Amino acid sequence: LFIDGELTDAISGETFDVEDPATGQVIGQMALGAAADINRAVAAARRTFDAGDWWKKKYNERQEILWRWSDLIERDIEFLAELEVRDNGMPLALARGMIASGLSAIRYNAGIVSKIYGHTAEISGGGLDIHAYTIKEPAGVAGLITPWNGPFASAATKSSSALAAGCSVVLKPAENTPLSAIRMAELAFEAGVPKGVFNVVPGYGHIAGQALVEHPDVDVVHFTGSTAIGKQLVRTVAEDLKRVHLELGGKSPVFVFNDANIDEVIPAAAMGIFRNSGQVCFAGSRLYVQDRVFDQVVAGISEFAKGIKVGNGFDPASQMGPLVSAKQRERVLGYIEAGRSEGAQVTAGGTSIDGSGYFVHPTVFADTSADMTIMREEIFGPVIGISRFNGLDDLAALGNATTYGLGAGVYTGSVSTAHKAAKALKAGNIWVNSYGFTDKSLPFGGYKQSGWGREGGFEGIDAFLEQKTVYVKL
Ligand code: NAD
Repeated sequence: LFIDGELTDAISGETFDVEDPATGQVIGQMALGAAADINRAVAAARRTFDAGDWWKKKYNERQEILWRWSDLIERDIEFLAELEVRDNGMPLALARGMIASGLSAIRYNAGIVSKIYGHTAEISGGGLDIHAYTIKEPAGVAGLITPWNGPFASAATKSSSALAAGCSVVLKPAENTPLSAIRMAELAFEAGVPKGVFNVVPGYGHIAGQALVEHPDVDVVHFTGSTAIGKQLVRTVAEDLKRVHLELGGKSPVFVFNDANIDEVIPAAAMGIFRNSGQVCFAGSRLYVQDRVFDQVVAGISEFAKGIKVGNGFDPASQMGPLVSAKQRERVLGYIEAGRSEGAQVTAGGTSIDGSGYFVHPTVFADTSADMTIMREEIFGPVIGISRFNGLDDLAALGNATTYGLGAGVYTGSVSTAHKAAKALKAGNIWVNSYGFTDKSLPFGGYKQSGWGREGGFEGIDAFLEQKTVYVKL
């Protein structure tokens, strides 16, 4: 654990195994944080926040420290990327990209530090001469909870937003992938973030995570994970109404119109689902194709899937790594079985790969229908379902027939179709003629059960700020 500027054992002395999903081997032991450790970490964060150890520093000093932190991450990018590959299994090139994405979040948020301000307003009535203004203040102690699919990028985005706002932080990374979060906090400390301001407590969600959400000294909970756990958090915070921000699951639709450039569509739509073995919240897992190009797209994506090199993330030829755990592989195989038994046709993959590690072939289902389990539920694996659609007439009905609303894609040669589709789809992120590009300068988040609020961009800081209005009679 990293608490109050130090690496420390759990109070219980217990540890848990850290596993390499490409080999199934245990590669290390991590201290197993529990409620007592969360108490220690929250106490450190509370003490530093109440004393103003971080937020009372002048903005330029906080900004310099965040920049220094990002420089240290850049210095150590290879080491951090290797940690991510060992812990999560993703290909090394993807891991480098994920660390770079976390790094750019820190630099973007360092810029925001100097741009957090309120405003003044004209006061209309009451016969009084009033000067009024608003101030934005850091919300307090932020409890951050992250998933295992992009461990570093997610933790770096959340923690740099919280720190930029002036909050003190307790981060609970996913139990499957705790390694890079610990190193990230050590580097923040090395860069000058005062001790106790950024604490990391790995542990199980239902114990350490739950304790963090319940803790009365935590002011804001910022969570990325499944919709099921997100709902549970909301029930928990109903007790004390602490602020909660949710980045949750998705079942994102992608539409290919007859007039799209099919040579570009095939690799883009395929990697829109197979990147990171489909363990991406906004993965384009439902593909709708217009009639004239349907057979061509199904054949092209199936061939592309068969050609993807699946292997250990350290093999430079690997385009797709394993799933994160044996449990996740079983879950994905269960969905593939459901697809078959409900009548969808497998045109590529459909099986796991024998041997050590948790590999599953990229899998394509054609002739799927909206009622099938694989078209309704988030699989979080390399599985795509392909259906037909007619055009703008049924795009919204098909695309929006989901409880989720995280992403959606449109491939078309028509500017008019692109904008009409973007307007009709109920999702927080729309991609036209590409899929899945994100940038830390723009807000990211979901409609409906894909979450509450936005992370990233200028909007991302709001979750970590309180706003105060001041009226002064002159
Ligand atoms: P998960 O919900 O099982 O776990 C996420 C985190 O919550 C982990 O750190 C876990 O330990 C913790 N947790 C579990 N139970 C808890 C509890 N009772 N109280 C507090 N914390 C608890 O999700 P996962 O399987 O790790 O990640 C996959 C999910 O995350 C998918 O649904 C995916 O779509 C979603 N996700 C969303 C985004 C986004 O930005 N919208 C990004 C990445 C992943």
